[in-house]
This record gives sequence, C-alpha cells and structure tokens, in this order.
Amino acid sequence: MKIAVPKEIKNHEYRVALTPTGARELVARGHAVAVQAGAGEGAGFADGDYQAAGATLNADVEALWRDAELILKVKEPQPEEVARLTRGQTLFTYLHLAAEETLTRGLMQSGATCIAYETITDRQGGLPLLAPMSTVAGRMAVQAGAHSLEKAQGGAGVLLPGVPGVAPARVAVIGGGVVGENAARMALGLGAEVTVLDKSIPRLEVLDDRYQGRMKTVFSTADAIDEAVRESDLIVGAVLIPGAAAPKLITRAMLAEMKPGSVLVDVAIDQGGCFETSRPTTHAEPTYIVDGIVHYCVANMPGAVARTSTQALTNATMPFVIALADKGWKRALAEDPHFLAGLNVHDGQVAYAAVAEAFDLSC
Ligand code: NAD
Repeated sequence: MKIAVPKEIKNHEYRVALTPTGARELVARGHAVAVQAGAGEGAGFADGDYQAAGATLNADVEALWRDAELILKVKEPQPEEVARLTRGQTLFTYLHLAAEETLTRGLMQSGATCIAYETITDRQGGLPLLAPMSTVAGRMAVQAGAHSLEKAQGGAGVLLPGVPGVAPARVAVIGGGVVGENAARMALGLGAEVTVLDKSIPRLEVLDDRYQGRMKTVFSTADAIDEAVRESDLIVGAVLIPGAAAPKLITRAMLAEMKPGSVLVDVAIDQGGCFETSRPTTHAEPTYIVDGIVHYCVANMPGAVARTSTQALTNATMPFVIALADKGWKRALAEDPHFLAGLNVHDGQVAYAAVAEAFDLSC
C-alpha cells in the first residue's frame, strides 16, 4: 500500500505519525512509505533516518497527498489538508470531530474514509490510542506543578519533597483515571504527600490496591474538594465525564481558601477545564495568576515532549497501521470491532453516532 506521512502543520505541533522504526516495519511488509521532508524534525527524527529505514522523502506536499492510499497524521487535518483529501483515500489520525462541525462536513465532502485514534476502544473498555497521551500529560502535570511552585513562577516557594526536617508538600489529584494515576505516581516518586479523589469506587479500589496505602484515596464530594483546597500546595485537575464538558469543581470563591502561591494544574482544560478560573494556555506562556493562585492550563501538554509523545503514540498506533496497510481498511475494520469503533466518516457520511448526533446528521 502507498502510505504518506505529512509534516504536521497545526501551530506548535511537533509530533509525527510514524517513526523511522515504524517505517522500517511497513517497508519490510512490502509497503511504500513516503515521508514529507522534515516531518520528523520536531520529534528528533532526521530525514536520513527515514531514508535509512527504506522510506522515500518527498518535499512536494501536494504530490505526497495525491499519491497516497493511506495517510497517517497526528492532529486533525487543517483546512488546506482537508482540501487535499479525496475519495478512495484513508486518513488515520486524531479527529475529535464532535466539537468541529466545519471539519466534519469537510471530511464528508472529501469522500475519504476517516478513522479517528480517539474513538478506537479495547477489551477493557478503555481508549488505547488516547491513553498514551494521558499518561504523558499526567506525568508532566507534576513536573509543571513543581516548577510553578517556585517563587520566580509566582508560587509559594515550596519544594515538593521537602527536606529532612521540613515536611513535604501536599498534592491533591482530582480524578484518578489515566492522567490522575500518573500524576499521583510522579508526586509520590518526588516524595510529596498525595491524595487522590475520584467518584468511582472501583477506581479508588484499584489505586488503593496498587499503591498499598502510599497515597490516600478519597471519595470525591464537595466537602472532600473543600478540604483539598484548604490543605494542598498543588492540585491537579484530571477528571473526565465522557462526551461532556468537565464539571467546575473549584470555583473562584474557593481560591480565597487556598494558601497563597498554591498551584492549580488543569489537565482537563481540553474539555473546558475543571476549575472555574481556568482558561487554555500555551507552552510559550503556560501559567497565569488569579487571586494569588498559579494556574497551569496547557491544552496540548504532550506537545512539549514531542519525542517521548511520538514514541508512545506510535507504539500504540502501529498495530492498527499495520492492519490497515496489510488488509485494507474494509477487512481490517470488519475483523476487529474495537478498530471499527474508530470509523468516523466514510463515503460522505458520518459513521460515528456521537458525531452525527452533535450536528443532527444521519449516521
Ligand atoms: P479517565 O477517564 O481515565 O479518568 C477520568 C477520571 O475522572 C475517572 O476515573 C472518573 O471517575 C473521574 N471523575 C469524573 N468525575 C469526577 C469528579 N467529579 N470528581 C473526581 N473524579 C471524577 O480520563 P483521563 O484519560 O485520565 O483524562 C482526564 C482528562 O485529561 C480528560 O479531560 C482528558 O481529555 C485530559 N487530557 C488532557 C491533556 C492535555 O494536554 N491537557 C492530555 C491528555 C488528556
């Protein structure tokens, strides 16, 4: 199959959809891989690495798209990319269509088959192509929070682990899913005192069992959040209600209860944020201060560690890419209901119920 890997063009997106290692695997299976010159640069993969893996380099982006049967990307296609897509092509990437009507209609018009990373499921009911990025964001959340606690960043001047004779900082993580567990693990590893709040008892049981009491698990109620607000130096927001905007769990009035210079890291900002005072920020200017509390609300945290994120993402996407390349989309999806859950648009129609409902389209 003819596979194309364009360079990502969304602002500040440095990841790439295929590593040289992945290219080598596809070439070894008899596929033709064309990579746009410079596509791997942001993630630390040189053009020569792809060539050494057997891929061809193409500097002509129009030709790269035109000649491809399967296009691998990271972010949703930008308008100029949608215009290049044609019937008969398959696009495999993050799409997040439910909030993007123009993009949805553009993809319908293209006639292409569009499969979204984020709606593919697994046997445990998880989202295997979202989880790696949640893992990255969760681990980064504590790094970012620790940095934000420094005086020069507007923080209280607190070192997360403390030192002998000085107590460690208190970290509360609201939401104990993939992001939350990884944030809590990092905070534990740094020696902080960690509490995880969740509404799911089964999830709290898993954490309690896994960490053997080294982190406190607390059922998430308004009272429990009040207590976390009063006591914590760092709070990580990591809640998710699938298909809905994040609930505002900390209001502006509650900031007055926090210790001055405390830090809020709102990882759920990509779903609107779980703190009332959150607004999306970028890696160029990641924090701002409201009522003496430092807010870190970067919407695409994994972008800052593009190399790790690319490797983590492509480890997870690769089996699906191989299935698409070897079998074609029809057979690959027919043989795997979890992969089929990724089909969002096909032949001018929306194929994913939640997206169709969002825009009153038939499915
Ligand atoms: P997840 O489904 O694994 O976990 C979410 C958890 O929140 C669940 O355990 C759920 O029970 C819990 N929850 C729901 N309501 C709650 C409440 N009121 N109080 C406490 N817990 C509650 O989801 P995830 O993969 O961990 O993702 C968490 C959020 O992080 C999502 O909004 C996701 O989009 C976001 N995210 C952001 C970035 C970024 O760069 N900013 C990167 C990856 C993920």
